[in-house]
Amino acid sequence: MTQSLEARTRRILEQYGIHARKKFGQNFLISQSVVDGIIGAAGITKEDTVLEIGPGIGTMTRSLAEAAGNVAAVEIDGTLKPVLDEVEEEFGNVTILYQDILRTDLPGLCARFGGGRPLKVVANLPYYVTTPILMQLLENRGLFESITVMVQKEVAERICAEPGSREYGAITLAVAYYSDPEIALDVPPSSFIPRPNVDSSVLVLKAHGEPPVRTDEKLMFAVIRASFNQRRKTLVNGIVHGLVVDGKPAGISREQAQEVLGRCGFAPTVRGETLSLADFAAIAGALREIV
Ligand code: SAM
Repeated sequence: MTQSLEARTRRILEQYGIHARKKFGQNFLISQSVVDGIIGAAGITKEDTVLEIGPGIGTMTRSLAEAAGNVAAVEIDGTLKPVLDEVEEEFGNVTILYQDILRTDLPGLCARFGGGRPLKVVANLPYYVTTPILMQLLENRGLFESITVMVQKEVAERICAEPGSREYGAITLAVAYYSDPEIALDVPPSSFIPRPNVDSSVLVLKAHGEPPVRTDEKLMFAVIRASFNQRRKTLVNGIVHGLVVDGKPAGISREQAQEVLGRCGFAPTVRGETLSLADFAAIAGALREIV
């Protein structure tokens, strides 16, 4: 099976004169078992509308078209259009939009294709923009029932990291607010052409029905950003020097920051990288009274 998808991919690349473009993070899947694994992990059924980011030469798009009700795919590289035109023609339920996902109006796209229901995102993400794409999806979390994505293994580990570990960061907390992340499968470089220099993992994020913490969400993420932008500093320093609310410095004094942390049960020397989502939620709640 792997052999035949590899042969098919090489034939398409040759026939259309396509050379994988590094600047767009193009590594094409050549393993049908990995494609099936991703779609299985996403639990796609005919009831679903899928948003695929970066269909490439349409390898996963074809399998998604068979499994899902509808597929909307956003591809930045217009030179792939002749190959993707064939996929659109062969499957009546696929629409390809040629644009940058980071400049895509996601609410508009979901209204157009989802008919009012949340979409499922499925993608083998371009690794050079994984974090901005994930952050954009999470900022629009209400639009998506689940997000199943291939990412660098290192990024998957960062997202699943525990407080206090080296990998723990702002993205871990942004994902935790949306879902309990799970690594569904690890994927070796030999599953792609060209081969990436890194191992990959498929991450499944199923949206929480209700957010796991109740707080001022905007303020909580402002505190998280302030904390991780100044990673080696104490959270007090992060809040005093780095807390930005509505585009303006929050203007919190050292005494106020220490008082807020003390009220939440933390020492003045506490560092953000040791705190859980619930801890940040409590701090945002206490800060709300003074900003
Ligand atoms: N889905 C294909 C596969 O699995 O074989 C290709 C995956 S490849 C890792 C990433 C794809 O994302 C490429 O097709 C690339 O052109 C596309 N891409 C890169 N940056 C993008 C962006 N900002 N918006 C939309 N697509 C993008």
